[in-house]
Amino acid sequence: AVAPSDSPTIFDKIINKEIPATVVYEDDKVLAFRDIAPQAPTHILIIPKNKDGLTGLSKAEERHTEILGRLLYTAKLVAKQEGLEDGFRIVINDGPQGCQSVYHIHVHLIGGRQMNWPPG
Ligand code: 5GP
Repeated sequence: AVAPSDSPTIFDKIINKEIPATVVYEDDKVLAFRDIAPQAPTHILIIPKNKDGLTGLSKAEERHTEILGRLLYTAKLVAKQEGLEDGFRIVINDGPQGCQSVYHIHVHLIGGRQMNWPPG
């Protein structure tokens, strides 16, 4: 049996086109789509199509290094595509204290307005 945290999530339904999403980038390994509750003019989620146990960054193993790099590189490509030449924010929430709500690793790409630091 799979652990509860490793169960399918809403993102599997998006990957499988069972529920709609506004996809902004897709290749054989990753999918990028607009967040349903955007926190900025641009708010995109970048996810691996094959979760491979990567419910969150805290579950990363050596075998995941290639896909982790690919998620960040995709964030750069999409940031350019979105015209975020003045800058952007990358976020990976992990676990309850990190405010993670979907247990399929995802990179948030947020931009189009001035960000604040520290984030709170
Ligand atoms: P987390 O809190 O886990 O870091 O981020 C999960 C994100 O997924 C949230 O920003 C939330 O708005 C987004 N989200 C949750 N369900 C859906 C959905 O069905 N479609 C889309 N496009 N985004 C979703």
